[in-house]
Amino acid sequence: MNLEADVCIVGAGPGGALLAYLLAANNLSTIVLERHKGIDKEFRGEHLNQEGEAVLRAYGLYEQVEREGLLLMERVEYWHHGQAFKAVIPADGERHVGIHIPQRNLLSVLLRAADVFPHYKLMMGTKVTGVVTNESGMVTGVKAKKGNEEVSIKSTIVVGADGRFSTIRKLAGIPVSIIKHGYDLLWAKIPTPAEWKPTIRQALVNGKQFALFTQAGGYVQIGWNIEEGSYPVLKKQSFEPFIRQVAEAFPELSESVHHHIRSWGDFVLLNVHSSKCETWVKDGLVLMGDAAHTMSPTGAFGINASLADAQVLSEVIIEALNQRDVSVSQLKEFEQLRRKEVEALQEQQLIKEAAFKDHFAVLTR
Ligand SMILES: Cc1cc2nc3c(=O)[nH]c(=O)nc-3n(C[C@H](O)[C@H](O)[C@H](O)COP(=O)(O)OP(=O)(O)OC[C@H]3O[C@@H](n4cnc5c(N)ncnc54)[C@H](O)[C@@H]3O)c2cc1C
Repeated sequence: MNLEADVCIVGAGPGGALLAYLLAANNLSTIVLERHKGIDKEFRGEHLNQEGEAVLRAYGLYEQVEREGLLLMERVEYWHHGQAFKAVIPADGERHVGIHIPQRNLLSVLLRAADVFPHYKLMMGTKVTGVVTNESGMVTGVKAKKGNEEVSIKSTIVVGADGRFSTIRKLAGIPVSIIKHGYDLLWAKIPTPAEWKPTIRQALVNGKQFALFTQAGGYVQIGWNIEEGSYPVLKKQSFEPFIRQVAEAFPELSESVHHHIRSWGDFVLLNVHSSKCETWVKDGLVLMGDAAHTMSPTGAFGINASLADAQVLSEVIIEALNQRDVSVSQLKEFEQLRRKEVEALQEQQLIKEAAFKDHFAVLTR
């Protein structure tokens, strides 16, 4: 199959999906390639902050996501020995301290919004395997596979919105520095009791840290911090101590935890890292979102940063195509507008991680 478009976006995560909508709404022919067949196949964070909310509101998309279903967080709480000893509440004029949006709800709104434009095409189950360049090294398209079928896309700009293990970044030979954070995360999801409040709860039990993220639909996602790389060894032992920590801190969850977490198979492991790329652009090519700057889970900045990237990048791409110039010097504006802010957020993540124990200092002195 041979196709042509102004822009080919690789990856239909939050960043790629929003960018596709913004470009298609501006009359650019846009093709999105997503390796998964369904939109909820990739595990990603689901909490949005005010920045992400503002981006969605700017295009009337927030109200649509609201109709699909979301949950406003009332407080962030720090717990010890069954007691909340510190709480962060919404700032003056704010209604929440974060929003849980199931990824299916966010992505279906973004992809549906783009789908009304005749010059927009989404190809699910299509995995990019190659980048095409011309004789001067400018990127001019991609090669992909949809099942057994070879797909060839010719495009003026290729956008790598393909996440933290970006294939586009690798194929374009863009050097990346990986930053390890000293911990990995184990996740499990359980139903909450009826009276459970929409909160984010951080708890420390016997020196071990875990967090509870209330979710729309009556669930809580539990995230345990474990030492980086320790899962293979942990997995040979009993998972009981993990669920005991939760039951000890929050006895009202005890029944749900014991009923719904029955084996290591009920946990999902996330290897935590962040990253920085030497450059976000090449001639004819741009990296955005986690592909350009992987975020760690701390502070829930990643989706928000990706949505903000899409907003800024859409303007830069529209201008570049108007100017008929997709060289590095033209596309670099995107990196100039976004890199500083994103790297400040990455710095904040490291500071927040280092400062976590300070929230509990009063208890451990
Ligand atoms: C445990 C954890 C919790 C987190 N919690 C939060 C949170 O609560 N809030 C928050 O804001 N951020 C959170 N984050 C970060 C957030 O998930 C990411 O920053 C965000 O998803 C990045 O969006 P993206 O669109 O750039 O990339 P992604 O969401 O990673 O999407 C990339 C897409 O590209 C596709 N793809 C990859 N390779 C190919 C290929 N070769 N061909 C075609 N398609 C391809 C993938 O299937 C995927 O759909 C968390 C991260 C982790 C690890």
